[in-house]
Amino acid sequence: MRHIRNFSIIAHIDHGKSTLADRLIHRCGGLADREMDAQVLDSMDLERERGITIKAQTASLLYTAKDGQVYQFNLIDTPGHVDFSYEVSRSLQACEGALLVVDASQGVEAQTVANCYTAIEQNLEVIPVLNKVDLPAADPERVRAEIEDVIGVDASEATLCSAKTGLGIDDILETVVRRVPPPVGDPAAPLKALIIDSWFDSYVGVVILVRVIDGCIKAKDRMRLMANGAEYPVDQVGVFTPKSLVRETLSAGEVGFVISGIKVISDAKVGDTVTLATRPADKPLPGFKEIKSQVFAGLYPVESNEYEQLRESLEKLQLNDAALRFEPEVSQALGFGFRCGFLGLLHMDIVQERLEREFDIDLITTAPTVVYEVLMKDGSVMKVENPAKLPDPSKMDEIREPIIRATIYLPQEYVGVVITLCTQKRGSQVDMRYHGRQVQLVYDIPMNEVVMDFFDRLKSVSRGYASLDYELHCYQAADLVKLDMLVNGEKVDALSVIVHRANAHYRGRELAAKLRGIIPRQMFDVAVQAAIGSTIVSRENIKALRKNVLAKCYGGDISRKRKLLEKQKAGKRRMKQVGAVEIPQEAFLAVLRTD
Ligand code: GDP
Ligand code: MG
Repeated sequence: MRHIRNFSIIAHIDHGKSTLADRLIHRCGGLADREMDAQVLDSMDLERERGITIKAQTASLLYTAKDGQVYQFNLIDTPGHVDFSYEVSRSLQACEGALLVVDASQGVEAQTVANCYTAIEQNLEVIPVLNKVDLPAADPERVRAEIEDVIGVDASEATLCSAKTGLGIDDILETVVRRVPPPVGDPAAPLKALIIDSWFDSYVGVVILVRVIDGCIKAKDRMRLMANGAEYPVDQVGVFTPKSLVRETLSAGEVGFVISGIKVISDAKVGDTVTLATRPADKPLPGFKEIKSQVFAGLYPVESNEYEQLRESLEKLQLNDAALRFEPEVSQALGFGFRCGFLGLLHMDIVQERLEREFDIDLITTAPTVVYEVLMKDGSVMKVENPAKLPDPSKMDEIREPIIRATIYLPQEYVGVVITLCTQKRGSQVDMRYHGRQVQLVYDIPMNEVVMDFFDRLKSVSRGYASLDYELHCYQAADLVKLDMLVNGEKVDALSVIVHRANAHYRGRELAAKLRGIIPRQMFDVAVQAAIGSTIVSRENIKALRKNVLAKCYGGDISRKRKLLEKQKAGKRRMKQVGAVEIPQEAFLAVLRTD
């Protein structure tokens, strides 16, 4: 164990984590040059060829240090996005050290800080690395000062590195040997292994990646998952180099995979503790949490006969995505579909895109919504994941909405516009600090406003310079109402939104106007109305269509005519017939944008 070093790389997106991981793996001979070319670590195809599926960037490497000793380096990958912060914290829990990679031309950003704090809380040795020093815009001295000022980590000895050219790589490896403490743990104690990750492999079933804290695990053991008590026979254990390599045992301090009879990844939960049935640990490792969906949306097939295919596709995706939830839902407007739960907006985008690309299903997606807590007059509390399902106001005592605590980093010249944005989004300021040219703002903002268009607006007002990290902070009572939209006199349940009463009239007007622009003209006049309860707060009129689109190019050349028809057809694929009116996909997302 004295020669084991377990560490992660933490970095803001695009600061060079993958490139550096590639370098380290290459330098330690994990892959030959030939393989290295194809070693785009984030790719999925390649993994097929390596036997069982591996998750990128987790690798056990052998490194011969300058002291002549051979060290086993376990490089543990962490997901890079704010939606996956819990997974990041579990990956870090498996390490004794972390390389804090900061782009020397960009400086410290929100995720750098958030992940670094997580590492510090867990007592990891944090090793600052200034990457991309080959770039002309690199300013290592400024960034060094920023790391010390913003994060409070000593950066005086930070390695100057270029993951691109290879500069500084040896220095980083030696620093890991010197500064990351070896793991402590008792190989003779009852098994305690932390699940860092799990995924589904079509050949061997569920693969779990574990960090063994105490004890040993080997093939033919009978393992037990401490969260639900389920037991499975162990088929195989091993490590990734990053190719998979079967080993006799994994023991205290090591990181590797375990293949057992687990059928679905939702049984192998990240953060859970694996022990042995014959000699179980008395208590699990600390910090286990069930993941909860924070954002919900309805997914409906454009063609209702694709409903079964959508269900099968969601089931397939769920094989490798324990955080994806779905259950059947019926909308009066959209028919049969599924209400899906996601970790956050990015997670939702990923799922949507995969359904459309890999499974070739055209979807109508309703606007994402957060989970509201409703205190009923009878004292019970219910959760509402769908605005259309909000109970009648006369039965409710109070509606509570989730509030996030957002930490935003930005250059000082954008402070004014960002504060204005946060205020518009009903945010309240918790803290504001200047760190040289960088400003750190902390705001409590209703999550409802964040799922609307906060990210996009933040990026645009700050010209892309602001970065954001957030966590769910609390639930807070607010004066919220349901705003319904009526098209041609019919309530379109999938267009309902929950908004703050103070904004309701304005949002109603805005939405009705927007829908007027989006819903194509029909053969008859169509009224678009916004209503709170039975009160109509706004009305717009879509005038009846008079002429045929083709009339325009009558006599024109045929190819132009065909193009126009094709365009119409493509547009049609994303429409949903609601009553007598066809409503395009865009309409369902229009509620998200506020201009
Ligand atoms: P990640 O999002 O943190 O994994 O970042 P990547 O490793 O994907 O790198 C983001 C971009 O920065 C890629 O285009 C890399 O080629 C580039 N990059 C990474 N390291 C360096 C470096 O040291 N120098 C330069 N010039 N570019 C780099
Ligand atoms: Mg990457």
